[in-house]
Amino acid sequence: MTAKTLLVLPGDGIGPEVMAQVRRVVEWLARRRNVTFDWREGLAGGAAIDAHGVPVSDETMADALAADAVMLGAVGGPKWDGVAYEKRPEAGLLRLRKELGLFANLRPAVVFDALVDASTLKPEVVKGLDIMIVRELTGGVYFGEPRGIHELPEGGFKAVNTQAYSSYEIERVGRVAFELARKRKGKVHSCEKANVMETGVLWRREMTALHKASYSDVTLEHMYADNCAMQLLRNPHQFDVIVTDNLFGDILSDEAAMLTGSLGMLPSASLGAADADGKRKAMYEPVHGSAPDIAGKDIANPCATLLSFAMCLRYSFDMMAEADLIETAVQNVLAGGLRTADIMSKGMAKVSTTVMGDSIVRELDKLTG
Ligand code: NAD
Repeated sequence: MTAKTLLVLPGDGIGPEVMAQVRRVVEWLARRRNVTFDWREGLAGGAAIDAHGVPVSDETMADALAADAVMLGAVGGPKWDGVAYEKRPEAGLLRLRKELGLFANLRPAVVFDALVDASTLKPEVVKGLDIMIVRELTGGVYFGEPRGIHELPEGGFKAVNTQAYSSYEIERVGRVAFELARKRKGKVHSCEKANVMETGVLWRREMTALHKASYSDVTLEHMYADNCAMQLLRNPHQFDVIVTDNLFGDILSDEAAMLTGSLGMLPSASLGAADADGKRKAMYEPVHGSAPDIAGKDIANPCATLLSFAMCLRYSFDMMAEADLIETAVQNVLAGGLRTADIMSKGMAKVSTTVMGDSIVRELDKLTG
């Protein structure tokens, strides 16, 4: 069996604590499923600044490019607040995303039955929710040129950002969304503002053409992004996969995430282009940050990182059964009443990061007899 190379970048704050729980699941996979990973660790964010003066060293970048997948904990913290803008911990993340060419960001918003009350929406609106948001990650207004703030001769300033998309950028992220929908409920909502933006007109045109050419088995609906924001709150069950640009995706994915009510439960994947063998560069990370306020206390919720690892198994290694097992184990442990502090509710048992990890590994044992 060829080893699957995993570059693990625990990062800062709670990153190492939650990643330690992934390590235990990886050990369980070796022990019980005969699946081995070539686990390599590197530094990213503040930890890399302390060691190398940069948030991601060239060596780590080379390791990331050579790996089959990258797992990232979280980066940042008050210790590095004074670091120059281009060297701050988050710049390491941006370098990884850019050099790995990660153009599609996948953010599932899943409401586990046991946590249905954690949402601010009524249980009947969010129960059983399972949405996948696909956000274009490397184009659009966050990167478009020209940009800047200029002083005006008549006084005051003018700020400029440019929203720009080309056909290939829309098509490649569109393909990711259609492929995902094929393995889910077969529906894609493509969201833009074609009513007021040319980029929206092109987005709609390209998505329509791609659908017709290659994905007519999937249902495609176009929706204005502002309407999507409303519909996510009104009737989120109508959605399966939502694909949208960088700016709208930033906002809509946070909105959808909050339908689930809890930052400690949210995984993500960022994917690059497929090579000739169909393999993609990919990085998996929890949505939350380094949570410096709770770092080192063994109270962080490891579920977001464990669920990110499940996405890694699913999308980088085609290990659907193992990904399902991890997701089911997390679900069952929550259903059994265990909670880390962030998702604690009345009548439940509050447990540490380590005990949550223990319980999930034990549940994996139980699930596989
Ligand atoms: P954060 O996500 O780190 O924390 C927000 C709140 O949620 C905190 O109260 C924290 O304790 C809690 N929280 C987050 N994850 C949790 C978990 N797994 N279990 C329990 N509670 C959890 O966001 P922030 O406080 O705005 O940022 C802290 C640092 O993280 C900053 O330096 C920021 O730049 C960085 N950050 C990094 C990433 C990343 O690495 N992808 C993302 C967001 C923020």
